[in-house]
Amino acid sequence: MDTSAYTFWLIVGSQFLYGPETLAQVKANSMTMAGGMNAAGDLPFEIEFKGVMKTAHEIEAVCKAANACDACAGVITFCHTFSPSKMWIGGLSLLQKPWLHFHTQFNREIPNEAIDMDYMNLHQSAHGDREHGFIGTRLRSPRKVVVGYWDDESTRRKISGWMRAAVGATVSRSLKVMRFGDNMREVAVTEGDKIEAQIRFGWQVNTWPVGQLAERIAAVTDAEEEAQLEAYREDYDVPDEPDLAAVRYQAREQVAIRAMLDDEGCFAFTNTFQDLHGMRQLPGLATQDLMSRGYGYGGEGDWKTAAMTAVVKAMSRGLGGGTSFMEDYTYDLAAGLSLGAHMLEVCPSVAAGRPMVRVHALGIGDREPPARLVFEGKPGSAVVCSLVDMGGRFRLIAQDIVCLAPTQTMPNLPVARVMWKPLPDLETGAEAWIIAGGAHHTTLSYDIDADILRDWARIMDIEFVHIGSDTDVVAFERDLMISDAVWNRR
Ligand code: MN
Repeated sequence: MDTSAYTFWLIVGSQFLYGPETLAQVKANSMTMAGGMNAAGDLPFEIEFKGVMKTAHEIEAVCKAANACDACAGVITFCHTFSPSKMWIGGLSLLQKPWLHFHTQFNREIPNEAIDMDYMNLHQSAHGDREHGFIGTRLRSPRKVVVGYWDDESTRRKISGWMRAAVGATVSRSLKVMRFGDNMREVAVTEGDKIEAQIRFGWQVNTWPVGQLAERIAAVTDAEEEAQLEAYREDYDVPDEPDLAAVRYQAREQVAIRAMLDDEGCFAFTNTFQDLHGMRQLPGLATQDLMSRGYGYGGEGDWKTAAMTAVVKAMSRGLGGGTSFMEDYTYDLAAGLSLGAHMLEVCPSVAAGRPMVRVHALGIGDREPPARLVFEGKPGSAVVCSLVDMGGRFRLIAQDIVCLAPTQTMPNLPVARVMWKPLPDLETGAEAWIIAGGAHHTTLSYDIDADILRDWARIMDIEFVHIGSDTDVVAFERDLMISDAVWNRR
């Protein structure tokens, strides 16, 4: 999914009160700020200066233009001078793009000799941004507030995180998910209201026949299979015969799945081991390699996690940490660790080293032994998130985790796996997760953090709960009860 064309519009608040000279200075300073922030090179997306706003008409026009611009992923406002907020009611009321209120100032310091009343009137965001903030709160507009000097790296880091969330929201609104088969029989947490998901997130979740995929697999040419096999050899250690035959079949599955996804413009998919009509193997290597190319995936029909994985991958533009479909599988209770894996489908973007392709029988299902990538996850800070359907609305649960270098070799476990310590610790973290209704399936990412997910949830207007180093279960449960009541009333 190419997100490189997205930009963010900088709209600067002012008014006619101060005269043309001041307005010209506001414009020049604003262009310096936008240019300087872009030139710093650490923002994931470009800022475009869109003008100094003096009237309600101008504000409404720029908000309408932002709504109509596909490349605009969000709007950043800043009041260089005072900008009376009644002027902003019309525009902000119809703004449909993610909004960041940037509380900054052109000059970092107060110039002792130069400061006079003209200077005060020019540089009064301390004053103007309070007026601006009030109207956002009064309108109950979901928006991010970032405070800090525009030329500081720490400030741009905050803006970067929100930009990623806003691009995630933009990508969400056109995301299509292809389902092969339904959810795993009798499973609850992977279910959900697909209409509510489309209203809330824009996700178009639809089904295609597994039989159609089987026909497509059969139609893959030898040349296509060979090209896919060569691509595998570039990135992975591929075994020789007799296991190579199973790898070749995964190559055919990948070519066919990708063709169907691309034909329909889908960036996420699901399947289930209970519905593999006409297929010889559960896609393992095929799914893993597709995930590493940016496609979202959810096992056992889990379209919510498939879509979240695609969204988080889109948020992670330019970062190399890795994002995968994941499942809490088994614990080391002595060490307080969770071992995450799946039957097969863990994305090699989270691998610590070069993955190996291996072929083993699968204890579940009734197909031929599938080829899959086997590797250890990399160490580092990461986040896992789970989107659950609370009935009529969604809740996003995020948990901070610390992934560890493997402490055991596990020579008889032929799947990719990641070992992590949930924060604040396994017992507290798992207790909070289960109280919140979090699933066994998650999206795990080393590239984004809970702040970005919180920003995304605010933009999508859903409940967000976070489990981290300072989580206390008593306070967490109380907050959850209050939050549940608030969100159920909306
Ligand atoms: Mn699963």
